[in-house]
Amino acid sequence: MNIQVKCLVTGGAGFIGSHLSDSLIKKGHKVICIDNFLTGNRNNVAHLKNNRNFELIEYDLIEPLTSDIIKKISGVKYIFHLASPASPPQYQKYSIPTLLVNSIGTNNMLKIARNNDATFLLASTSEVYGNPLVHPQSEKYYGNVNPIGIRACYDESKRFAESLTMEYFRKYQMKSRVIRIFNTYGPRMEPDDGRVVSNFINQAIVNKPLTLYGDGLQTRSFCYVDDLVRGLILAVGKDGIDGEVINLGNPQERKIIEIGRLILKLMHKPKLGFTRHQKPEDDPERRKPDISKAQNLLSWKPTISLLDGLTKTIAYFQSI
Ligand code: UDP
Repeated sequence: MNIQVKCLVTGGAGFIGSHLSDSLIKKGHKVICIDNFLTGNRNNVAHLKNNRNFELIEYDLIEPLTSDIIKKISGVKYIFHLASPASPPQYQKYSIPTLLVNSIGTNNMLKIARNNDATFLLASTSEVYGNPLVHPQSEKYYGNVNPIGIRACYDESKRFAESLTMEYFRKYQMKSRVIRIFNTYGPRMEPDDGRVVSNFINQAIVNKPLTLYGDGLQTRSFCYVDDLVRGLILAVGKDGIDGEVINLGNPQERKIIEIGRLILKLMHKPKLGFTRHQKPEDDPERRKPDISKAQNLLSWKPTISLLDGLTKTIAYFQSI
């Protein structure tokens, strides 16, 4: 991606989408961001407003695109399709819009990619592995998903989005790739979107004990947003990986209670401790990406330690 190209970032005003837009703009590219602000936030891209390489379009991707928008997007080379609520409380609140943006919205974006001969990157999720019976999770694992549970609106619609992307690839030889994003954290997470890192930091800021769901022994593997964005840009620009499915995440696995203790330590508030709450239904027990495929195909691996990443994230939440 050395010359300037036109990029479309759906969900570009969201947490990951806005960092991705920043990085693309910094590299000299043109970015069209489409967001309906269901969970995205205008403030995340406010600093790009007057940048001549940036355009923000407020639109719901489940609607057929207007001729005006199709014209604006015309000539797009890279499509990063990130639009979807992504935190468990948000996708459960907006369950039907989540199902629709990942199905109808993805179909609309695939058509745009096909008509423009663009490279299409689907932002999928580690949630396609459900509560995994295989550990760590490699791309070969089919997953263990409850199709009718409270997380299904996200898990199953992302699985559908993957199938649809693969069918467009098989039928039309499109330049598409599916990236399964594992837990990501960093500045611009919404303070109230219910994810564990943002919850814990914001609870500690107001001197409240941290809300631990279950015994806190369930695990996740947390990737700092800059590492992830670097991987997404590498993946879209890489030749020879059409039709590939690739995990991106940090393989350092931690217990949730450990994350809580680390945040309390970094914020010098170890005494706050925890309050115990019931673990949500279908909450996965363990999650850790096998990233050997990303290492082989993209020469990508995360470089930002949990300590550094959390320090930056804490500083962000303290500043807003
Ligand atoms: N969690 C928690 N306290 C919170 C929020 C989340 O203990 O205030 C737990 C949650 O039950 C899950 C893990 O932390 O096991 C990660 O949750 P998150 O919603 O961040 O993402 P998930 O990986 O479940 O999509």
